[in-house]
Amino acid sequence: MQTNFSLAQLADPHVAESEKILRKCVHCGFCTATCPTYVTLGNELDSPRGRIYLIKDMLENGRPADREIVTHIDRCLSCLACMTTCPSGVNYMHLVDHARAHIQETYKRPLLDRLIRAMLALVLPYPRRFRAALRLAKLGKPFIGLFDKVPALKPLGAMLKLAPASLPTVSPSASPGIHAGQGAKKGRVAILTGCAQSVLDPAINETTIALLTRLGVEVVVPPGEGCCGALVHHMGREQAALASARQNVDAWTRAIDQGGLDAIVITASGCGTTIKDYGFMLRLDPVYADKAARVSALAKDVTEYLAGLDLPEPVRKPGTVVAYHSACSMQHGQKITREPKELLAKAGFIVREPREGHLCCGSAGTYNILQSEISAKLRDRKVKNIEATGASIVATGNIGCITQIASAANLPVVHTVKLLDWAYGGPKPEGVLEKNLIAAE
Ligand code: SF4
Ligand code: SF4
Repeated sequence: MQTNFSLAQLADPHVAESEKILRKCVHCGFCTATCPTYVTLGNELDSPRGRIYLIKDMLENGRPADREIVTHIDRCLSCLACMTTCPSGVNYMHLVDHARAHIQETYKRPLLDRLIRAMLALVLPYPRRFRAALRLAKLGKPFIGLFDKVPALKPLGAMLKLAPASLPTVSPSASPGIHAGQGAKKGRVAILTGCAQSVLDPAINETTIALLTRLGVEVVVPPGEGCCGALVHHMGREQAALASARQNVDAWTRAIDQGGLDAIVITASGCGTTIKDYGFMLRLDPVYADKAARVSALAKDVTEYLAGLDLPEPVRKPGTVVAYHSACSMQHGQKITREPKELLAKAGFIVREPREGHLCCGSAGTYNILQSEISAKLRDRKVKNIEATGASIVATGNIGCITQIASAANLPVVHTVKLLDWAYGGPKPEGVLEKNLIAAE
């Protein structure tokens, strides 16, 4: 695509980066067919190509964001299906990240929208605040219908619907410490404790630590870790995202210096995509650029790490039919497609892939709160495809997808690592019934 930026504009490294990306786009439109919002809404401006044109126009003219561009960029899930489809290697992720930061800097949203976004940014990344908010949400549940009637308050209604009826207790696995591996040492890793996942389902990290240590891997929970920054990053709050990134880079750099790390294991693929991008996000920071690149190179999804280990024979041979839902951040963001399915199959599960596996389930960070109507359409489509597989259980590697799909599915949705742990001698995952685990005939 031809671009028309002035030399003065290109002196801004963010604009220069976006210009490079824009020039790669050849307008072919292949990406439209796999874009969930285009498939759902049928509007070119809600397709990757349409958004690319809007972003180009806004950046080239150096103008503030307006209502039209905000509408269409807000509707983008950042699912990155377009990047998987694009034959020209257009890095839509970095382009839309830049556009979101530009919107945050130049556009004044309506008051309620601003307040809701500020609240999400101040609550979700902090486990204590998030836990307190979920407790409060119980009191708000009777008012869901009321919130749903006022368009500007719909995000509050969506939030209340997603809030679980009960909360697990705080897990010791989130506290800093070292979990020694059993038997011959196979490796040493740090694990991201994260934010929302540690509140909604702390058993994911507990199970990961139990499985890895049983396999001989030492697991470190370094002091100072926090939210990866993805939630605020996708809201265009660049400085907050970079502050989170720097905090984690510091925590993991200390862990590397104090005993080395083979990997930084991440159990939420949404976080994995962002941490693998720290090197890019902090490339202009002379103090952090190298350290961040080192951290990104060490970041691995738990299934990616497990796939590199010499696994023993599973303790059980389940024969259970599992529908594997590949989170967008797993398949499009990190290009991890083989490992989770191969691990499940090796552990004795019969893996089925739902139709339209490339389409997002509609979770996408805060999307199911801020764009609840499109999100619900995508969720229902996803659940229908999952249920059509005839599986008795759903496995996936991202807490957002687990919460989203479980809110509408009639079968248990669990993190892949819990099924693996069960097959390799761990306890039956909570919420999964014996009948869900029986072998297929
Ligand atoms: S990230 Fe997803 S929703 Fe956004 S333009 Fe690309 S395919 Fe469409
Ligand atoms: S597929 Fe790639 S090159 Fe083609 S329009 Fe989409 S982003 Fe541009």
